[in-house]
Amino acid sequence: MTDGEIHRLDQSTIERIAAGEVVERPASVVKELVENSLDADASRVRIAVERGGKDGVRVTDDGIGMGESAVETAVEKHTTSKIGDIEDLEAGVESLGFRGEALAAIGAVSRLTIRTKARGADRGTELTMVGGEIESIAPAGCPVGTTVEVDDLFYNVPARRKYLKQDQTEFGHVSRVATGYALSNPDRSLTLTHDDTEVFSTTGQGNLESTVLAVYGREVAEAMIPLDGDLDAEGPLDAIDGVVSHPETTRASPQQCTVFVNGRYVRASAVRDAIVDAYGGQLATDRYPFAVVFLSVPSNTVDVNVHPRKQEIRFADEETVRDQVETTVENALLEAGLVRSGAPRG
Ligand code: ADP
Ligand code: MG
Repeated sequence: MTDGEIHRLDQSTIERIAAGEVVERPASVVKELVENSLDADASRVRIAVERGGKDGVRVTDDGIGMGESAVETAVEKHTTSKIGDIEDLEAGVESLGFRGEALAAIGAVSRLTIRTKARGADRGTELTMVGGEIESIAPAGCPVGTTVEVDDLFYNVPARRKYLKQDQTEFGHVSRVATGYALSNPDRSLTLTHDDTEVFSTTGQGNLESTVLAVYGREVAEAMIPLDGDLDAEGPLDAIDGVVSHPETTRASPQQCTVFVNGRYVRASAVRDAIVDAYGGQLATDRYPFAVVFLSVPSNTVDVNVHPRKQEIRFADEETVRDQVETTVENALLEAGLVRSGAPRG
């Protein structure tokens, strides 16, 4: 408590508040760690969480790994190997990350362990960090690649800890993130485990169909209808690709409408609404289809990455994107004989 005077916050308070901007819940830890693994050229990424991720998140990859001094730098604030300066950013980044915030932020609000070995190195390194301070760093025997373990998230920010939801709810968020990266990376193997039970595992040798099968199971995979990439409606989309489900294969939540824009997994409620509208009243009340939809748009017509946590994407011409998506999905359903032409819009 204070006496109402304006005063400067101490450094550790500042850091914990800042960390909360990047890490909101276990799912955001999973997002950051998986993106790092994918950026590190991993072909296999294993995600294991305990109690919805509240007690532990572990992500293991077979990527390029880090040397001893690299891992020490990596947990510092604002350190990245992905861009040099703002010009690189303006020129467009290929990597999923570039802010250099994630490991430092996660380390500030958890107990963090990193075991890593660089490709070609003869030994690995283990680093432990607690509440933002490096506790130990020592040589360790480990395979090439990186394992990041995040235990007791928000143990030192009780207000945030308390705000976390029940295990199943937190796990739902984790699962959606993992599913998104699995679906958009059929050429990499992703495995998700919750409390020692495997939830899904993709082979990494598949196409979209086999990945949908691995993630959602046979019933859903068999109900999927491919989109025909030909764009009838004029608009900013360069291409649209993916699958949507039969109108009777639905769930009570819209979360399994997964949208990717230029390869990035994003939240795009406008696109989701357009997909649902395309079913034109064929869906039961409050039921949503499965959809995995990839959009390609000129990069200057979207704003992808304004805030680390804001996955909601903005299109310069949202109305037209909506029309293009709706028409394409409608045509696919029509083609499959599932929606009558001229059916009333829902
Ligand atoms: P960013 O991803 O924005 O660069 P992070 O804080 O997430 O920032 O990571 C900092 C740096 O640590 C990365 O730029 C990368 O060099 C290194 N790093 C993080 N995770 C891994 C990993 N799984 N494999 C190899 N290097 C990694
Ligand atoms: Mg990162």
